[in-house]
Amino acid sequence: MNKLEQLSEELKKDQKTWLVTGNAGFIGSNLTEFLLSNGQKVVGLDNFSTGYQHNIDDVLSQVGEESAKNFTFIEGDIADIETCQKACEGVDIILHQAALGSVPRSIDDPITSNRSNVTGFLNMITAAKDAGIKRFVYASSSSVYGDSKELPKVEGRTGNVLSPYAAMKATNELYGSVFQKVYGMETLGLRYFNVFGRRQDPNGAYAAVIPKWVGSLLTGEDVFINGDGETSRDFTYIDNVIQMNLLAGTTDNPEAFGEAFNVAVGGRNTLNELYNLIQDQLNKSAIKHGLSTIDQSPIYRDFRPGDIRHSNADITKAKTIVGYQPTHDIYQGMEEAIEWYIENIG
Ligand code: NAD
Repeated sequence: MNKLEQLSEELKKDQKTWLVTGNAGFIGSNLTEFLLSNGQKVVGLDNFSTGYQHNIDDVLSQVGEESAKNFTFIEGDIADIETCQKACEGVDIILHQAALGSVPRSIDDPITSNRSNVTGFLNMITAAKDAGIKRFVYASSSSVYGDSKELPKVEGRTGNVLSPYAAMKATNELYGSVFQKVYGMETLGLRYFNVFGRRQDPNGAYAAVIPKWVGSLLTGEDVFINGDGETSRDFTYIDNVIQMNLLAGTTDNPEAFGEAFNVAVGGRNTLNELYNLIQDQLNKSAIKHGLSTIDQSPIYRDFRPGDIRHSNADITKAKTIVGYQPTHDIYQGMEEAIEWYIENIG
């Protein structure tokens, strides 16, 4: 039994109520699906700024009618404190995912991103404290490593942040740590490294690289690589992120509280490698489904401002403190992700 399967068995023994903010988005919808599938109650909160009703509908149809009864949804904005207070009623554990993602979005419009990512964060953690909810797990980001050249990235050693988005996530971590010290909350920050998988949005100017390339290759549009393609990342499949959220939500190790953890696999692939992997995997799936194969070259363009050159995580802290054991590397994850895209947007 792998770690995620073990967690699933544990969850089934004890029903709790989880608040998943950003549940209409990529990561939040996957967390909601896993929790509902394992007998948990979930309150969702989202304002549909980048999330979709169809993600919620998909989750509810995947989990089936009985489990869907354990779900309630609040449409609202975390920048509004009363909405956050209402969402906290009767909740045991919070998985706070709602935020405006994307480094370029935060460079184009820092004020709008700050409203969700800092004001919204502070509202949510304060509402949790006031409601007496101790466990507050929140999404941070590998962008907090900024200009640190050190590889792999170790939690205690961050550099200077390179974008408004990274400044916002670093601020979240400061609040997370302070709320643990001042109010005794059990906060855990999860530094996600380039997450990918089912339901990640391929559309829009700020789409993440994997769904964007998959979407473009499936619809015959140009694929752009920013820079020389030798930029590298620790691409992390969604199942690993689900696992880490559950571990963070249920651990009773006090060493974990007030801390931030890398959530990754500990691998590193360049954008050029990623492009070839996606195209190969798409073609394997295309052959399996009797579809035509793709042979397209990427177009190289300028580097993007605010981007870190290389990223690769040391995941020792998550392993030793909460027992994290990633189940999918990039290759296993990509196989599952591409199957989902072919079935859903192909
Ligand atoms: P997403 O855009 O798919 O989901 C975010 C959700 O939050 C959306 O449904 C959106 O509508 C909602 N939201 C945004 N602002 C809100 C507000 N003010 N009030 C209520 N809801 C609001 O993005 P995702 O990839 O699922 O990201 C989830 C979290 O993980 C975010 O905090 C993001 O910064 C963080 N993160 C993601 C990655 C990644 O690779 N996907 C990497 C690092 C960090």
